[in-house]
Amino acid sequence: MRKKIVAANWKMNLDFNMAEDLMAELSEKLAEREEDGPEIVICPPFPYLEMAIDFSEDGAFLTGAQNIHPLDAGPYTGEVSAAMLASMLVDYCIIGHSERRLHFGESDAFLAEKVKAALKWDLTPIFCCGETLDQRNEKRHFEVVSDQLAAGLFHLPESEFRRVVIAYEPVWAIGTGVNATNEQAQEMHAWIRKLIAEKYNPATAAVTSILYGGSCNAGNAPGLFAQPDVDGGLIGGASLKADEFISITRSFPARQ
Ligand code: PEP
Repeated sequence: MRKKIVAANWKMNLDFNMAEDLMAELSEKLAEREEDGPEIVICPPFPYLEMAIDFSEDGAFLTGAQNIHPLDAGPYTGEVSAAMLASMLVDYCIIGHSERRLHFGESDAFLAEKVKAALKWDLTPIFCCGETLDQRNEKRHFEVVSDQLAAGLFHLPESEFRRVVIAYEPVWAIGTGVNATNEQAQEMHAWIRKLIAEKYNPATAAVTSILYGGSCNAGNAPGLFAQPDVDGGLIGGASLKADEFISITRSFPARQ
């Protein structure tokens, strides 16, 4: 059985007091969640991670970083290493978000190094992949996602690959208010699972959590999370509102 996960990507939002209020509300309200509910991961900006770790001690959520540097330490002003995050007991890190690929020129090879570093320090990578609108219109979306996975993840031996979470985030859906349809999400998630089965084996494909991200909100989450290959979501804008985010965490179909 693979894990259901809902991860919040706060991006570069909220001041300290707003972040504290949101975390306090989440930690109180998510503490009452159901036994078989999803794993919930909060990825705030770096300066708020220690506060998130303190709030996470009540068990309502786990914590994640939005980025890491692949090296453990050194002259890289402004960067944060997986080693540092591991020493604070951070659980997850987002790697390869399209905003980092686009605005910070992060290459597939650099992302592959980050994945290695995360695993070395026992952080669970949430590896993002997804096509632009032009690539989808040119019907290259499957090829683009295959290439991103091959370059960023498929260098891993099976035992390490099994510790990775994948997030399919079509770039055209991120922050636009236009989410992938249930069918588009399911089609790509099934494709990703097929690639994993071919690269590794069907058992590994069956236990890999594949999250959907891109304008996911309380209204569309139930339809998206009902798809057989959608194991949860990576949530941007809608994770900044406590009630909406909590409602997303409760959007999975009841277990049969
Ligand atoms: C994201 O940035 O990972 C994301 C999914 O953003 P949004 O939900 O705002 O589209």
